[in-house]
Amino acid sequence: MHRIIIKNAADLEGMRASGHIAARVRDTVAKSVSPGVTTGELGDYAAELFKGFGAESAFLGYKGFPGQICVSVNEGVVHGIPGKRRIALGDIVSLDIGVRHGGYVGDTATTVMVGVTDPEIIRLVRTTALALEAGIAAARAGRRLSDVSHAIETVAVRAGFSVVRAFVGHGIGRKMHEDPQIPNFGRPGQGPKLLEGMTLALEPMVNMGAADVEVMEDGWTVVAKDRKPSAHFEHTVAIAGGPAEILTI
Ligand code: MG
Repeated sequence: MHRIIIKNAADLEGMRASGHIAARVRDTVAKSVSPGVTTGELGDYAAELFKGFGAESAFLGYKGFPGQICVSVNEGVVHGIPGKRRIALGDIVSLDIGVRHGGYVGDTATTVMVGVTDPEIIRLVRTTALALEAGIAAARAGRRLSDVSHAIETVAVRAGFSVVRAFVGHGIGRKMHEDPQIPNFGRPGQGPKLLEGMTLALEPMVNMGAADVEVMEDGWTVVAKDRKPSAHFEHTVAIAGGPAEILTI
């Protein structure tokens, strides 16, 4: 039987600190995403920033992951390894940042548009951000976990896009992946009741085409099987008395 860990006030302070660092690194690296920059350079920059905050990557070495952050371009869904690929005009670049600081993990992602003019791609990225917002709005004490899943899915599906099913959001705290798993789809009113002090990483991954994904030969990079664009946004949140507190801002 799995157990969802309820955080006390000290835990939440720790989670706020790690979440804040994750957000700062996300926003700083996002600003340096531009044509000609390699994904490896973005990873190196993130490593410097982690160090400056007295923090470390929560991803590096996780199940053997070789990067400081995940950088997933265009049809890349998640888990892209920073490397030689050069960002080009018209790309969308998903940055996933996991920080460990003071024994607590913060996890956040954003998708940056690099001079994108294709209206469908812009709509995909905006929809994914809105799906995350809808999930956060549904994440309130007393509601059920799948209310969050359903809220996310509804936004994506109404826009005509597909939510990725092979990867899900998760509980988070002293470990990056705690119970529960949080699918980005499903009927409402199911699963555990949300309680104040639960900390969750909500992370819709939305595909322009079909939901199917596959893993590339590097063993990590997950791409949309139909090679159509995919977007990813993530916040770490704490269930509170009223609306959820977003920790990664
Ligand atoms: Mg995550």
